[in-house]
Amino acid sequence: MQIGFIGLGQMGKAIASNLTRAGRRLIVWNRSPEPVKELVALGAQAAARPADAAHADVLMSMLADDESLREVVLRQGMLEAAPRGLIHVNLATISVAFARELARVHQERGLGYVAAPVFGRPEVARAAKLNVVVAGESSSIERIEPLLNAIAQRIWPVGSAPERANVVKLAGNFMIASALETMGEAVALARAHGVQGAQFLEIMTSTLFAAPVYQGYGKLIAEERYEPAAFPVTLGLKDVRLALQAAESVHVPMPLASLLRDHLLEAIAWGDAERDWAALARLSLRHAGLAHGA
Ligand code: NAP
Repeated sequence: MQIGFIGLGQMGKAIASNLTRAGRRLIVWNRSPEPVKELVALGAQAAARPADAAHADVLMSMLADDESLREVVLRQGMLEAAPRGLIHVNLATISVAFARELARVHQERGLGYVAAPVFGRPEVARAAKLNVVVAGESSSIERIEPLLNAIAQRIWPVGSAPERANVVKLAGNFMIASALETMGEAVALARAHGVQGAQFLEIMTSTLFAAPVYQGYGKLIAEERYEPAAFPVTLGLKDVRLALQAAESVHVPMPLASLLRDHLLEAIAWGDAERDWAALARLSLRHAGLAHGA
């Protein structure tokens, strides 16, 4: 099976590397050349243009957002170059509306489209331990399942309409952002009364909140370690915005998401755009006059 892979950022590079190491034949494309060289060193083939990566049985994409995907896949004629029967597996976190549009344009051209957004940061992707939420035609999912098994600890099918997987991903990321906000406000309260933030978080994440999101991000917040960013504030803002758009389209109020959007914008205004979105917690400390550094 020939696999095209476009988008070798933090996540895409880890996933494509694991597929190559698992013995899969990959032809890869990325806007900037450095990660392509790394994949070629592992045995992948380099595509000169995105369309060359579409001459395959399966096309996997892990681009940043709606805009980059629209540019590379729709505007640069990738789908015109794709052979009938190709299945496009989109791993990126995109909007619900664009997922619907992509499903339609693929169907019009006789191509399969599977939405497969992932939970897990780059280190989880490198360990092939992602949780992949998948939606699309069952026959397409069956064909690509061995590929997802090579990168995931578990695959979570949620139906045949691709956008459903994106809804799950956006709702999940909204919950992570809410946890960051909650931890930031609680740490500010604890610290303002003389309790160390690290001690407070250790108690909470060892007891009532002994869950991966609280434990992983709690450590970053306790250590005030926001660089290097595994998931920057800019991508977090994108996802909260997409959750709000999806909510508005079905008249679901999400007042907490509106607050998170404003706080992420404020974090960017403070210069945290490229810091990890755990820096959202630092904003609560700033509001309380407790932030160290910038
Ligand atoms: P990233 O490191 O910033 O990589 C983004 C990728 O998109 C790069 O390959 C980049 O190319 C490409 N790109 C951006 N704009 C482009 C454009 N206009 N034209 C062509 N290519 C463009 O991001 P990431 O962390 O890998 O995230 C990728 C996706 O996974 C996002 O949708 C994100 O929300 C989702 N995700 C991320 C995480 C995480 O923890 N990081 C976890 C789960 C899901 P260059 O290399 O040339 O810049």
